[in-house]
Amino acid sequence: MVDETAHARTLALDVPGWPGHHAGQHLDVRLTAEDGYQAERSYSIASAPEDARVALTIERIDDGEVSPYLAGDVVVGDAFEIRGPIGGHFTWRASDGGPVLLVGGGSGLVPLMAMLRHRARAGSRADARLLVSARTVDDLLYRDELERLASAMDGLSITTTLTRGTPDGWKGHGRRVDAAMLGEVGPAASAAPKVFVCGPTPFVEAVADELVALGHGAAAIHTERFGPTGG
Ligand SMILES: Cc1cc2nc3c(=O)[nH]c(=O)nc-3n(C[C@H](O)[C@H](O)[C@H](O)COP(=O)(O)OP(=O)(O)OC[C@H]3O[C@@H](n4cnc5c(N)ncnc54)[C@H](O)[C@@H]3O)c2cc1C
Repeated sequence: MVDETAHARTLALDVPGWPGHHAGQHLDVRLTAEDGYQAERSYSIASAPEDARVALTIERIDDGEVSPYLAGDVVVGDAFEIRGPIGGHFTWRASDGGPVLLVGGGSGLVPLMAMLRHRARAGSRADARLLVSARTVDDLLYRDELERLASAMDGLSITTTLTRGTPDGWKGHGRRVDAAMLGEVGPAASAAPKVFVCGPTPFVEAVADELVALGHGAAAIHTERFGPTGG
């Protein structure tokens, strides 16, 4: 277990018989209380397909039912049911190549991280651009790892924007993702990148609309919405 931020924790799961997954897929977690009450929620897989364990990064929603347990109370050795991997549309394989544009808001970075980890593990040099939006610098997931990946100079560029204030010396953006930012991060629509957008529903809808206005084909834009109701 790794605390990524004050509100998010990564769990690395040993899953007997795990069939393997593609970067971008998710799984369903089902918890069963002693009285038999069950709750099920979806979580993106954060780990690369090449990794031995299946990693989930869960952001705690304070008044939520499932995430406070997974991101706070669960201890090493606890067992719970999972179902998956699920999803075929929101996936990227190194063999797909580039260019690829990844746009993540909050914990929407999780499946995009699986893609970047897979890209690195597979030795891909595909043109990949990541634009990640977080509220504050302390909410940024995988910060050190992203810096390491970006410093490899292997065709990956990473841009970060903070929506609720920037610290002194901040080199990224300090506003919500908009068309100008998407245009700057690129690649241009004319390069026909495969695009993946993930995050809260309003974020995904706004970004997808801006991408279409910039000329990206709707069929090239793959979206995953972390809506409020979960599983
Ligand atoms: C395909 C898919 C993949 C997902 N992957 C991840 C992931 O990798 N990491 C992750 O942390 N979550 C992920 N989610 C969201 C997750 O499934 C749950 O919705 C989330 O953990 C909240 O569950 P909960 O039981 O704690 O809250 P609930 O009991 O379902 O909701 C409680 C309260 O919180 C609000 N709420 C619920 N979810 C959110 C949210 N995401 N943002 C803002 N308010 C919310 C509700 O409106 C309600 O007021 C994913 C969702 C989908 C559909």
